[in-house]
Amino acid sequence: MLRKTNSFTDILLQENPSNVLRQSFEGGRIAQTYLFAGKASVGRMTVAKAFVALLQCQKPVRDEKGFLDSCGQCENCRRILNNSHPDVKYITPNGNEIKIEQIRELQDSAVLKPTLGAWQIYIIDPAEKLNISSSNALLKTLEEAPAHSLFILLASDTGAVLPTVLSRSEIVRFNAPSHQQAREILQNKFKMSPEAAASCYSLSEGNFGQSLNMAEDFEYDPEIVGIKRAHTNYLLQLQMFAQNIENDFSSVNNLEDALKKAWYLQTVSYQPLLEARKALCRSLVMNTGLPKAFPLLFSQEIVDTIDSASAYIKKSLDPILAESKKAYPAAVIKDIETQITASTTKWGSDQLEKMFLCLMNFYTDAMLMAVNADETLLLNLDRKEDIITVARVEGLDLLKSRIEMLEKSIVLLRRYIQPLLILENVMTQIGGTEA
Ligand SMILES: [Zn+2]
Repeated sequence: MLRKTNSFTDILLQENPSNVLRQSFEGGRIAQTYLFAGKASVGRMTVAKAFVALLQCQKPVRDEKGFLDSCGQCENCRRILNNSHPDVKYITPNGNEIKIEQIRELQDSAVLKPTLGAWQIYIIDPAEKLNISSSNALLKTLEEAPAHSLFILLASDTGAVLPTVLSRSEIVRFNAPSHQQAREILQNKFKMSPEAAASCYSLSEGNFGQSLNMAEDFEYDPEIVGIKRAHTNYLLQLQMFAQNIENDFSSVNNLEDALKKAWYLQTVSYQPLLEARKALCRSLVMNTGLPKAFPLLFSQEIVDTIDSASAYIKKSLDPILAESKKAYPAAVIKDIETQITASTTKWGSDQLEKMFLCLMNFYTDAMLMAVNADETLLLNLDRKEDIITVARVEGLDLLKSRIEMLEKSIVLLRRYIQPLLILENVMTQIGGTEA
């Protein structure tokens, strides 16, 4: 997820919102509160960082098009790139929401003069996680904020943001690329073959940001595996992921880092795990009769493995927590421990949600093929033959009911209803017939 620059020139998409922001900078018409509206991972944070760099840069430069851009060299630019700028702060959920204490802290610091840059900047991500009291506190802050403070709110669902906060914000819209646009960008920018670009994109389940993260070291492997092997391999890759994370976490030597790593856990893309999930879902969707015990037995194994992997990840941060006990008050340690637990638990529940999303994308593609839509609309373009087979075997009505069943299952998962029961139900409905 590490970007090498915060230059507007290096942004692969989102020319419109970028231009809006750059023009307002040139014209000196900078709003105090922006709301970046658009789906997750379409580039809102990337554009936010480019804009913040431009605002704080000591010596903006002109690019080929004649637009101003940050220099990338000055102390402000460098610090923004490695997330250590004292006047650029990120407000992210503490647990499941952005709490009023976090906004009060923001309120106190927003009145102070910036120490290094020209602005005190706050990036609130995602704004939907503000609850009523923190929204109201933020509103008050926005109303009273001094001229040197600037707020950027990121939201994928503007309906979930308090209308009074919305009305104080300049809304900048971010559109997701079409599947075909996304594949073309991967092909052109990373010199991928059409097959590799299609595979990389389909593994991301339509999450463009994630496919970009993988693109640089993507290894194209068209191998297709049978359902039992796919299942075993998926379990193995969950464990491998946890081990990789443990290695990464072993370099953590302070509490702040531990927390940061824990929060970034959700954004780590590990290609072998994505491939294993895709192969398992493909096998499920393509099945022509599975062993009868499969749904219950395999569901149990999946849930157990996810649980133990997330416990393992959490445990790898125990040493740093224990070590910090001498230097920090117990309440701080406890708070950080709670946040780390929340993050690893979320990683675990995300695994099932992503599996359901993956299945849903297969069925959505099959529906497109069933109505003879243009193949460039497919997410899983790399598995077109499979999709055509599924479309032929299942038919429109069944495909539609499967998609609805999966949508409902995702809603239930998010309500923390027994994940094992939900997974068993999905597996039974999709693949519960005897061979
Ligand atoms: Zn600079």
